[in-house]
Amino acid sequence: MWHVSSAQSVSQVIAHRGAWKVDSLPQNSIASLHRAIELKCAGTEFDVHLTKDDILVVNHDNDFYGIDIGTATYDELLAKKHPNGEAIPTAEAYLREGMKQKKTKLIFELKTSKLGKERTLHSADLSVELVKRLGAESMVEYIAFDYDACKRIVELDPDAKVYYLNGDITPAQAKQDGFTGLDYHFNVFAKNPTWIRESHDLGLAVNVWTVNTEEGMRTLLNQQVEFITTDEPALLFEVIKQFKKENKKQKRTRNKD
Ligand code: MG
Repeated sequence: MWHVSSAQSVSQVIAHRGAWKVDSLPQNSIASLHRAIELKCAGTEFDVHLTKDDILVVNHDNDFYGIDIGTATYDELLAKKHPNGEAIPTAEAYLREGMKQKKTKLIFELKTSKLGKERTLHSADLSVELVKRLGAESMVEYIAFDYDACKRIVELDPDAKVYYLNGDITPAQAKQDGFTGLDYHFNVFAKNPTWIRESHDLGLAVNVWTVNTEEGMRTLLNQQVEFITTDEPALLFEVIKQFKKENKKQKRTRNKD
């Protein structure tokens, strides 16, 4: 069994769509962003779509309570509200709120447009432009399922941290493409058991989604992935605390041998 050798190598917590679950907050709401910051998550993930009139907005699904985002104007989306009274956040408002602090990174998921590649790449251009305009570069890390969008972001900002989500390229390819790392579903790493180690050997960071069980969390803690993305950030903090305690105890036992 693999044991962590230092405190720095313990995985960090990324809240998936903000920390929404415990208080039943809307996913991707400003309220869920605040909650993730209060919990001291290393990062909080959110999903970004582009409206018909080129406004980047934060929401998971392609529709906001029944209104299709890609074919609606931003004003049209204001007809609906989250149950907590919030309107759909613009990516700008979300980033500005997140930038009021420095500890929780803003994990910006660029959504693939169902209107086609051109639209997806246009959202990538607008996203990088927005982050630069706000001076948010050091707070933002990008993730995307669209491979070309990831490459576009690297091209537009070679210093940007970019992780690819779709699970279908090797660590070596990700390195060649200039990505910071891989952010794959846990099943992908289960099927390709060498990829975490290969990523680390190449200097790539590994994020894994969406890990909501204690067993799954422990498996990845043992594999020393850099980040674990979860709907259960409070549980993950608890599991990490236990995990660190157990490792300390084992180290002490070994030292006595
Ligand atoms: Mg997402």
